Amino acid sequence: MATALLAKRLFTPLQAIENAALLIDDGIITAVGPRDHLSLPPNARVIDFGDAVLAPGLIDIHIHGGAGHDVMEGADASLAAVERLMASHGVTSYCPTTVTAPIDATLRSLDAMGKATANVGAGDGSRARPLGIHLEGPFLSHVKRGVHPPALLQPASRELFDRMWQAAGGHVSVLTIAPEIEGALDLIAEASRRGICASLGHSDAELPQARAAIRAGARHATHTFNAMRSLDHRNPGLLGAVLTDNGVTADIIADGVHVDPTVVDLFVRAKGIDRSVLITDAISATGMPDGTYRLGELEVQVHNGRCESGGRLAGSVLTLDRAVRNIMQFASLNLQHAIRMATLNPAKVLGLEKRKGVLSVGADADIAVLSPAGEVIRTIVGGIVN
Ligand SMILES: [Zn+2]
Repeated sequence: MATALLAKRLFTPLQAIENAALLIDDGIITAVGPRDHLSLPPNARVIDFGDAVLAPGLIDIHIHGGAGHDVMEGADASLAAVERLMASHGVTSYCPTTVTAPIDATLRSLDAMGKATANVGAGDGSRARPLGIHLEGPFLSHVKRGVHPPALLQPASRELFDRMWQAAGGHVSVLTIAPEIEGALDLIAEASRRGICASLGHSDAELPQARAAIRAGARHATHTFNAMRSLDHRNPGLLGAVLTDNGVTADIIADGVHVDPTVVDLFVRAKGIDRSVLITDAISATGMPDGTYRLGELEVQVHNGRCESGGRLAGSVLTLDRAVRNIMQFASLNLQHAIRMATLNPAKVLGLEKRKGVLSVGADADIAVLSPAGEVIRTIVGGIVN
């Protein structure tokens, strides 16, 4: 049976439609437009969301956990807890993200996350769904490792990468890599050939190294400014390339802790509304009280919204709906533009923009129902309206 959703506004997100209607059949969007232009099937279930805004479901391409669980635990109950928390914050799709850990443990986690990605079904509409794994480590710079354990970092190796890729059943979507480490350019080219987004991060690269990586196929940057060589006006380094190259998209943690709001504003001015991506980098502590939590195999202390391990920032407790509201404030954006950075733009990073991150005919019926201020009212995953 078809379902029709009505709302005061809808963001596709490239277009804003007033007095909108959206039709769903069997989990897929079958029509979208102004309600006077659409004929609703006579037997359709009609749900009127009044003054609300319909937007694509949010997509988080960098998340480690939430609700007390880390995605590397791999168990379905752990993923279910994280995925329910995400859905309660408007997120319908995500990339479970690793941290550098002993290789055997990593391979076991990848096996579980790969299977979860492969076996994702319609579900009951209460859980965000995995799109593919984000490998954050072990091919990172020692100088900009953040909290990734130094003894476990590795030179870029096709052989090790292939073991990880095999363990994940090929379900790898993003590879964060420091372009200056040994073997990086070769691995960036290989990952790109496999359709994986090679993303520059955890890096102390100089400008020419960053440019060489972009020529090799890198097209994104991971938590811009964090775990990167600082921008110097005479020695711009990796950030100089990331912020000025129109062939590169970039993501940022807009929690007000990882990057000062003024610098978030500067980032949006540099990358524009079409190349900026919001992520959370959220860890297991998200949605939980202050205390001690885990990130991969690390212990992390959480106090007043800051996550630290050994005095260094260790992920966040940010949720993506809050990132959307924050960036409206930090960079003076309207809701439509802010939503684009958490929907269409991350879908493009993954090459999934026909099916995800958009409200258009043929796309998956993954929808966030928001208040005009960007608060989540309802999340619809795969067309299931609970
Ligand atoms: Zn991370």
